[in-house]
Amino acid sequence: MREFAYARPASLADAAAAFAAGGEAAFIAGGHTLLPAMKSRLRMPDTLIDLSALSGLGGVTREGDRLWIGALTTHAAVAADATVHAALPGLARLALQIGDPQVRNRGTLGGVLANNDPAADYPAAALALDATIETDRGAHAADDYFQGMFTTALADGEIVTRVGFRIAARAAYAKFRHPASRYALVGVFVAQHDDGVRVAVTGAGAGVFRWAEAEAALAGEFSAAAVKGLVLDAADLNSDIHAGAEYRAHLAGVMLAQAVGEA
Ligand SMILES: Cc1cc2nc3c(=O)[nH]c(=O)nc-3n(C[C@H](O)[C@H](O)[C@H](O)COP(=O)(O)OP(=O)(O)OC[C@H]3O[C@@H](n4cnc5c(N)ncnc54)[C@H](O)[C@@H]3O)c2cc1C
Repeated sequence: MREFAYARPASLADAAAAFAAGGEAAFIAGGHTLLPAMKSRLRMPDTLIDLSALSGLGGVTREGDRLWIGALTTHAAVAADATVHAALPGLARLALQIGDPQVRNRGTLGGVLANNDPAADYPAAALALDATIETDRGAHAADDYFQGMFTTALADGEIVTRVGFRIAARAAYAKFRHPASRYALVGVFVAQHDDGVRVAVTGAGAGVFRWAEAEAALAGEFSAAAVKGLVLDAADLNSDIHAGAEYRAHLAGVMLAQAVGEA
């Protein structure tokens, strides 16, 4: 591995200053994406800025119609949190399905959303639950935040601080997981809000996206029967060694029906 400097700032301002100090800097949270990327030399930062000493970036609070989760909260902590279970049990179950125990005990919500892997799970929840992604510089609505493969609305050096998920009347996630990594071959998150239904799909395309036909069908009647036979258009979906586009298109319909049933 290439040599790099290491900083562990105690405040957001110090973290931003360390990032701006020059060279190629990278924030590190759980390290479960960044460290493999460094080992394979896909990322070669000069300075690692460890976010783990920052206060106020962990924990779960319920404020009005939103459930706020700190960026440094691990997947295991979300899966076990009583407030998450009470407000959004589907989100707790999603966290429990991420990776394996090692990944869940180190990986963080903020790391997943900053990275925006096209097969990651939380982006589907953030989009379906109309999340607000708060940062050290402001806030992003989920509808504007996800901008395709590994691309988000975050500016260079912007730090995710917490995420506010809108609490839905009913919400659930179903994924068909890759048997080795547990990433989603296809994952579908459904949420029934007071003002309509939101459905988000991960794993199937270049990035997470909303499924308008499924939302319209479920707005009429929120039941698995209402979406029976619905498949995605395969035209823009991923084809790789794990699954073809048509297979993913069909799988999305199966995951949709499962998620609705669970919700
Ligand atoms: C074997 C394995 C299996 C996995 N399976 C799954 C799975 O099933 N589902 C799934 O969704 N994910 C899966 N992951 C990914 C895992 O969830 C990671 O934890 C996650 O992608 C990154 O979070 P992290 O905290 O580890 O971030 P890091 O690796 O520390 O950082 C990732 C990126 O985000 C940036 N970053 C981190 N935190 C912030 C922040 N607060 N603000 C701004 N930028 C930030 C970093 O600079 C870096 O670019 C898997 C990973 C592994 C290694």
